[in-house]
Amino acid sequence: MAAPIASNGLKGIKTIRDFDLQDKKVFLRLDLNVPLDNGKITDETRILASLPTIKYALDHGAKLILASHLGRPKGPGDKSNSLEPVGKRLSELLNIEVMLTEEPDSDATRALVNSLKKNQVILLENVRYHAGETKDAPEFAQALAPLVDVYINDAFGASHRAHATIHALPQMIKEKGIGFLIEKEIQFLDQLLVNPKKPYIAVLGGAKVSDKIAVIEKLIDIVDGFVIGGAMAYTFLKAQNISVGKSLVETEKLNYAREMIARIEARNKTLLLPVDHVVANSIKDTAGEVTSGVSIPETQLGVDIGPATIKIFGEAIKNAATVFWNGPMGIFETPSFSKGTFAIAEKLANSNAVKIVGGGDSAAAAEQSGYASKMTHISTGGGASLEYLQGDKLPGLEVLRARTK
Ligand code: AMP
Repeated sequence: MAAPIASNGLKGIKTIRDFDLQDKKVFLRLDLNVPLDNGKITDETRILASLPTIKYALDHGAKLILASHLGRPKGPGDKSNSLEPVGKRLSELLNIEVMLTEEPDSDATRALVNSLKKNQVILLENVRYHAGETKDAPEFAQALAPLVDVYINDAFGASHRAHATIHALPQMIKEKGIGFLIEKEIQFLDQLLVNPKKPYIAVLGGAKVSDKIAVIEKLIDIVDGFVIGGAMAYTFLKAQNISVGKSLVETEKLNYAREMIARIEARNKTLLLPVDHVVANSIKDTAGEVTSGVSIPETQLGVDIGPATIKIFGEAIKNAATVFWNGPMGIFETPSFSKGTFAIAEKLANSNAVKIVGGGDSAAAAEQSGYASKMTHISTGGGASLEYLQGDKLPGLEVLRARTK
C-alpha cells in the first residue's frame, strides 16, 4: 500500500485566535463573491460561511475592515459588480452598520477606521475595481497597509490566486493568519490526503478530463478507486473503442485516458465508468432517452448517466468510507438531465462515509439536489480546493506560513 501523502496543511500558520484583536485594525479578506441577478443575491452560501470569523473579530473588540472581490469587473464604473447588496445583507445578518467605502487609500477612510464604534464595520468596495489587485501590485498593497494591524485571510475561494489583498498585502504585515473558514476547509481537505478512511473513492465528473488530470494523478496512489461520470467519461469510453456518438470527447486526451486505465488496473484499483446513458440529439434538447447499453448511436450524445449506472455508482458509494465528489454526472442545469447528478447526491446523503464535495458546479449541484446539509463538507472554493488536493501550494496560505529552516 502506498504511504500516506504528507500535506503541510496548516503547519506554521496562525489563526485569528492567536492574536489580541482589542482595538486593533483587523483587515479581513473574505470571499464574498456571490452570484447576483439584477443586484439580488441568488446564493448567499459564501456570506454565511464568512460570519463566524466576522462575529469572532467583533466580539473581540476589533476595528474591522472587510475586503472582497466580486466577479470580474471591467473597472470602478462597473456597478454590476458592486458589493453594495452584500454589505446590506451582512448588515441584516449581523445587525450591525456596514459602511461601504469606495476609496481605501484616503484620509477619510483612515479616519473612519480609527473612529469605528462597536457594531460598525467597514466594507471596502470590490477590490478588483483597482487594477493593482489582480496584478498583485505592491503599490496597491502599500495603499492598504495603513488600514492593517492584523491581517486575516478567510477567502479560501481566492487563496489560489496571487492577488494583492491575498498575497502582496500580508507580506507587509507582521501579525497575520487565517480565519475559521480556511481552517475548516484545510482540515476537511486534509482528510482526503492524510490517512483517509478506507475504502476511499473519488467520484469525478464535469466537462473535461484535462481539468481533472492533476487531481487524478495526485489521488491515484491514495484512493481505492475512481468513479467517472459526466462528459469526462466519454473520453475514457472512446479510449476503449466504445462508440460515444456525438458526445463531448477530448481527442487529444485519448492516449492519456488509455494510460490511466492501465495504471489504475496495474495498481489493482477500481475504475467505474457508465454502462448506460441518457442521450439526446443536441445539447440544447430538453428531454432525452435511455440507452440499452454502453454504446451511444452515431447521431446522439450523452447528457447524463443512465439508471443502471446510477445503481452501480450508488453501490460503490454505499461501500466507501471516504468519498470525494467533484463534477456533475451530466448536464444538470437541464432538469431532465439532472437525475444522475442528484441521485449521486442522494446516495452520498444516505451514506455514513466522510463525504467531501469540491466547490463550483458540484457545490451548486449538491445545493440544488436538496442534500447539501447531509454532506460532511462542501468546499466554498472550486479552483482552490482542486489545486490544494492536487498538491499545489496556495499563494494565499504560503504567505502566512512561518518559515522553518
Ligand atoms: P466542471 O466545471 O468541469 O465540473 O464541469 C461542469 C459542467 O460539465 C456542467 O456545466 C455540466 O453541464 C457539464 N457536463 C456534465 N456532463 C456533461 C455532458 N455529458 N455533456 C456536456 N456537458 C456536461
